[in-house]
Amino acid sequence: MENHKSFFWSQGLLIALVGLVGSFSLGLMMLVKPNTSEAQSQQSINEITTSAKAGTQARIESLKAMMLTSWQQQAQAKGFAYALPASFLGATIDAAKLSPEKKVIALTFDDGPWPESTAQVLNILKKNDIKATFFVVGQNVKNYPDLTKQVVAEGHTIANHTWHHWYHHMNPQVAAYEIENTTDIIFKTTGVKTNLFRPPGGNMHNGVAAYARNSKYAIIMWSSDSIDYSRPGVQRLVKNVFRQAQPGGIVLMHDGGGNRSQTVEALPTIIENFRKEGYSFVTVPELLEMQDKEQKVLANKK
Ligand SMILES: [Zn+2]
Repeated sequence: MENHKSFFWSQGLLIALVGLVGSFSLGLMMLVKPNTSEAQSQQSINEITTSAKAGTQARIESLKAMMLTSWQQQAQAKGFAYALPASFLGATIDAAKLSPEKKVIALTFDDGPWPESTAQVLNILKKNDIKATFFVVGQNVKNYPDLTKQVVAEGHTIANHTWHHWYHHMNPQVAAYEIENTTDIIFKTTGVKTNLFRPPGGNMHNGVAAYARNSKYAIIMWSSDSIDYSRPGVQRLVKNVFRQAQPGGIVLMHDGGGNRSQTVEALPTIIENFRKEGYSFVTVPELLEMQDKEQKVLANKK
């Protein structure tokens, strides 16, 4: 959030400076008083205006470049970590604890990015103006950098789902490799430094979740499993989602890791049904923020 703020700051500053440069050139033009014939002075004003315009343009361009560089440097130094409330760092979350009238749900997609299905999921989300959360696999980020960039460019939250998607037991060195390398490649590809983690298969006991917890990642599980990886058929898949749907819930689906045509086919119906029930869609950081605010309100009332 801080980085976004400073980005908008830079934009504001840029506009102010452009204004300043503009009024300076105007002042310059007004200083040139016509002292010979009108035609001559008109000509010299035109010349000055043209050269002032060119000068201003050059200055704006160099200013823009300078600000962009400093903004990129800042981003590279800090990364765009999601502004999670501190109480969630190192915690495991299945769903947000919200009052039942807060009908929000977080759609999450695992194991991508993946050719075809990730772009299809992104298109459906875009059409419906929904932001979701994508738990990506490091080696897929490496193989499909453009799809990874698209996920972030379209406003979705990106999160860590290890490098290899292994299920077996991992010692701390291997777990560190799996998690840190994935965080690194997400950062190098998108500029986002994620602090959200989901263990492959939801396995909390093979060393990888323990590493994530110690490293203060928020471990994001789910409250509603589509079981889409078993390709149960579109109708069944939709039913699976709604069997456990609840306000503040987190829905598990997959955009990668295999044939996801059923997930892609079911997604518009899932969205439509949630909307019919009065739900709106949020990302995982937004969901956590809502719980944090609600708990603070409750605490204030006590
Ligand atoms: Zn997975």
